[in-house]
Amino acid sequence: MYLKHLTIGGFKSFAKKGELEFSAPITAIVGPNGSGKSNVAESFRFVLGEQSVKGMRAKKGADLIFNGSDSTSRGNKASVSVVLDNTQRVFPVDFDEIVLERTVHRDGQNEYLINNSKVRLKDVQELLSAANIGPTGHHIISQGEADRILSASAKERREMIEDALGLKVFQYKKIEAEKKLKKTSENVEKVQSLRREVAPHLRFLERQVKKIERSIALRGELTTVYSEYLKREDTYIAHHSDRLKLERTEPSQKLEDLKVQLTRAKEVLSESENDEKSGELVSLEEQISAVRAERQTLLRKSGQLEGQVGFLERRIRQAQEKSTSESEAPIPIGEVKKVLSEIERQVDKAVQSSDASLLQRALSDVVHTFKKFVQNASGVVVISTDTEEKELKEIAKELQENEKDIVDLSVKEEKLSGQYEALKTSIEAESQESREAEREVFRIVGEQRECENLISRIDSELSVLERDRNEFKRELQEAVTLIGSGASQYFGFEIVTDGEVVSNEVIVAEERSVQRERRRELEKMKIRLEELGGANEDIEKEYKEVKERDEFLVHEIADLETSIEKLEALIKELTDQLNEQFVAGIDKIGAEFNRFFALMFGGGEAKLMRVKPKIKRKKKGEDEFGEEIEIDEEVEDEEAQEGIELSVKLPNKKVTGLDMLSGGERALTSIALIFAMSQINPPLFIILDETDAALDEANSRRYGDMIEALAQKSQLILITHNRETMSRAGILYGVTMGGDGVSKLLSVKFDEAAAVAK
Ligand code: ATP
Repeated sequence: MYLKHLTIGGFKSFAKKGELEFSAPITAIVGPNGSGKSNVAESFRFVLGEQSVKGMRAKKGADLIFNGSDSTSRGNKASVSVVLDNTQRVFPVDFDEIVLERTVHRDGQNEYLINNSKVRLKDVQELLSAANIGPTGHHIISQGEADRILSASAKERREMIEDALGLKVFQYKKIEAEKKLKKTSENVEKVQSLRREVAPHLRFLERQVKKIERSIALRGELTTVYSEYLKREDTYIAHHSDRLKLERTEPSQKLEDLKVQLTRAKEVLSESENDEKSGELVSLEEQISAVRAERQTLLRKSGQLEGQVGFLERRIRQAQEKSTSESEAPIPIGEVKKVLSEIERQVDKAVQSSDASLLQRALSDVVHTFKKFVQNASGVVVISTDTEEKELKEIAKELQENEKDIVDLSVKEEKLSGQYEALKTSIEAESQESREAEREVFRIVGEQRECENLISRIDSELSVLERDRNEFKRELQEAVTLIGSGASQYFGFEIVTDGEVVSNEVIVAEERSVQRERRRELEKMKIRLEELGGANEDIEKEYKEVKERDEFLVHEIADLETSIEKLEALIKELTDQLNEQFVAGIDKIGAEFNRFFALMFGGGEAKLMRVKPKIKRKKKGEDEFGEEIEIDEEVEDEEAQEGIELSVKLPNKKVTGLDMLSGGERALTSIALIFAMSQINPPLFIILDETDAALDEANSRRYGDMIEALAQKSQLILITHNRETMSRAGILYGVTMGGDGVSKLLSVKFDEAAAVAK
């Protein structure tokens, strides 16, 4: 016997402590109407954790506490405790005896104790569910409630039967799993939304980091291209400069000699009988030399000016190309953060104030701050070329003037040369002897011109090289700024083409246009590099952090999705188990129901049927005129869970519907079903509150027989007025209520009990 003892104190009409021992398989509680018998049944519901106060015939928790009478004052709390035997460990705790206690206070607060330790309601429910004592209370049938199983809907009936079959454990687990599934799905959505929120920033950082990576790669590439370019340039300039200087020595030397010779020849000429022609010759020669010298100086100047023009033009072009890529210009993240905190400060201030005008001002402040930021940010990248353009203009003007002077000098030289040639022809036409000295001058001047021409050609080549050298120096400086001091190590760089190291001989013999093309490529690379910007540790660090967080979230989503899969599998498994055991249980209960029914009625037939709920559906049909219309049709809802319907057939009667049964017949049918339910998975105890009220003498006997059969498997507590039922009980308790409105419990003899029986 599992149910040992019940103590009621302050519960409903039991103002004083009352105790019941359950030492027999069947205990009957008897007493006059209104004495408090049903309150005993409800005290069981209460201590077992019933949450519906309505189910205990009350409106609120405080109604369960003794409310006082004319002679007895009301109580502050109601307590009920029940002692259960656990020597067979039906409850999964290591105690031989379990004492459950529940107390309710006037403020509606509840306390639960298991073996004197405070616990939660959930702990009580879990403990009881292990012994199939479920919350629907299928083992406690209150007064008039037996009929409920007949009047219940197919769905409610299923729940009662599931409870009786001990399937509630699966239901709990399923509900728990479904809750977890919902929570997990919500969490997936939350984490996904976190990812979505951070995604644009991550994409931005990704682009920035890719840019940085491209910039690093390009810098590496640029180092190689630079090294090759610088090496080639330096080698070429050095070699050709040396060569030209060498080539220049001979004509220079010769020119010096010729100068001496000319001085001497001119002296000879002046010593001889000096005529007009020879004087003119000397004068012309000197004038031409002076003009030539001047023109040479101007030509050199032109060379320098051209060099400067080229340099300035390139600078301006680069600046313009940079400016066109302004939309791609990076803005330092520090600047953006500064603006953000400023805007946040303004908005916070505005949010704290409820004044509309302050809000308006704050909004315009925000717009102003942002505008200023954009202006400043644009200023950073707009490159001004004003100074260069001005300088270019001035130099171009100077060059133009210089060129004009050169042209003037050329004209002058040409004119003088014309005179000189005419004079030369005229002198040469005269007798050889008399013009020996002049002819000497002509020879020397002629050779001088040749030498000068040669030197001038060499010089102009040298001046180009000089210009290139200056450019080279500037380029080297730029290279150091761009790629670091390593750029000046270019000389050790080995240029390899088609797997072979390119020799200096090949380098110096190369067409200049090829090197110029290299230079153009270099310029393009520099612009690209500048557009990409340099390394930015902050960005890289931030990217790493954001990326790691995102990866963490991805991982989390994967984990959550695995949990979802597992939960779905668990739910499916539980549903399958539930359905399987339910179907098997229904078959067994159905068979028992039929047996009990036949016993009760001395024949007949009763069945349990699994049915799907019906739903209404529209279908196409025709009206009386043959017009197409939509008509309603009832079909089974395939998706829904099956419910349980009953069908009964009384012996010798044509009655099949439950509605056509008499009160007594309904009582017998419901008793048959309740008994059938308790046969399959017998509860530890069953409390029946006047289930037998409607039975006549013959049926009371049958009922008594069945009770005895039932008591083989479950302990019974029967609240009854029925003499036959009382006679089957091992223990009888009487409940009385005196004028003080307080219920009292006492042990009674059968005869005493029978006195209150019908
Ligand atoms: P019946 O045989 O007619 O079914 P019963 O013996 O089952 O009667 P109960 O329904 O258990 O009687 O008891 C009802 C009595 O309990 C009523 O007199 C009611 O006033 C009393 N009662 C219910 N709640 C309280 C309460 N909170 N305080 C005091 N008395 C209460």
